[in-house]
Amino acid sequence: MPTLQSYKTNQAHTERMYCVKCRQHVIVTAPELVKLKNNRFALRGKCPHTGVMCYKVVTRERAKELVPGIE
Ligand SMILES: [Zn+2]
Repeated sequence: MPTLQSYKTNQAHTERMYCVKCRQHVIVTAPELVKLKNNRFALRGKCPHTGVMCYKVVTRERAKELVPGIE
């Protein structure tokens, strides 16, 4: 997934994300917030079981809650 920028979220933040290798939702700790080329935002983090990178598109409002100050 092509990304422009990445931002750290709170290290205590956990997010339920889908892992394509586990084929189920897993809990990812402190995923990064990334800005995509289409100007949307997504969370990106490694599955704790397989290490596979998981992505989850989030709304701009949600992105701003996770990383205050972003545009
Ligand atoms: Zn996994």
